[in-house]
Amino acid sequence: MKLAKRIERIKPSSIIKIADEVREMERRGRQIVRLEIGEPHFSTPKVAIRAVVKALNHGLTHYSHSRGLFELRDLLCKKYNTKFGIKLDPKKNILITPGGKQALFYVILSIIEEGDEVIIPAPGWVSYKEIVRLAGGTPVFAECKKNENFDLFFESIKSKITKRTKAVILNSPNNPTGRIIRKNVLQKINSVCLKNEIVLISDEIYNEILFAKKKYCSILSINPRLKNCVLINGFSKTYAMTGWRLGYVFAEQKLIEAMLKLQQNSISCPSTFIQFGAVAVLLKGKDFIKKSLKIYQKNRDLLIREFRKIDKFRLIEPEGGLYAFIDASKVNRSSYDFCRALLKEECLATIPGAAFGESGEGCFRICLATEKNNILKFTKKLQSLQNLTV
Ligand code: PLP
Repeated sequence: MKLAKRIERIKPSSIIKIADEVREMERRGRQIVRLEIGEPHFSTPKVAIRAVVKALNHGLTHYSHSRGLFELRDLLCKKYNTKFGIKLDPKKNILITPGGKQALFYVILSIIEEGDEVIIPAPGWVSYKEIVRLAGGTPVFAECKKNENFDLFFESIKSKITKRTKAVILNSPNNPTGRIIRKNVLQKINSVCLKNEIVLISDEIYNEILFAKKKYCSILSINPRLKNCVLINGFSKTYAMTGWRLGYVFAEQKLIEAMLKLQQNSISCPSTFIQFGAVAVLLKGKDFIKKSLKIYQKNRDLLIREFRKIDKFRLIEPEGGLYAFIDASKVNRSSYDFCRALLKEECLATIPGAAFGESGEGCFRICLATEKNNILKFTKKLQSLQNLTV
């Protein structure tokens, strides 16, 4: 069978590949400290589960509105409208999707044409570049530097803009670095995008997991009408609902209508009863967000304390999100080799920095959503590796 060229342009997700390998090792009886995959270790809030069971028992098992349940769209718009003093319309400015990833697919497929360039800060989440390539676009990486804690600066975006630039994808707090884009940087990027008719895609999937809340700024406080701009979010990370597959995207009506055509002709609508769980967490999930944030914050603070005892590895201080990025450039191995050795010899599952782009080489990522004991096992291992030539 001859496959289409478009599928040969993209690679499998390196994160999912590692996670699948770890699951296989566990199946064979190995005990692994799992710090690789990016998902909350808590169960989904009970209110969501109860709401879905109720919906199922009431026979709500048919298609929903192709934009998503009105009640859910309305609640989300109200939440953002109240927070930012804006006027998002549930009939015009929002689409409910099966995950934030699917929302990104819709956005990119709706705006990118063959030969268009999309600027992506690097290190950056693994799927951005693949989705852009699938659409026929070219990812252009704006480098964030290790010696600047991987913070994003305006110049690195500006210097990559050409006549072909069609979009910029920003992600704050960032996966994998945990860094937040500063307000003044976001303002300048927004202005340059508006001036050059570049679509600004703001992936804010970690917006409720903030350790440095004052530094955080959503694109909505800068561009309240979402002019030439898209905001992506979802339920996976905030409410420990990764397996539910539910996300949403806010944008101008014209783009929402374009994405709706993709949704109607692919999945028809997001899973109906699942959306009732999302309604429930929006109404009653505030405490869950607070409680989980406290645990992530504790793990992050513990890591910071433990890394003071470790010279060979440097922790890039996470300001938000689910991850910690660790500089291992003193180790004389590629990040892939190093993470492989950690997995095979020390039973620690992590993600090599190179998976997030060349500028991530020499680093690796761990997930903060885990038991305290796992964090301690991990830092003890790193301490014991200090004197070895791993
Ligand atoms: N954006 C970023 C930066 C992510 O890390 C992820 C998932 O890991 C997603 C989007 C997509 O999440 P989901 O499709 O589960 O909503």
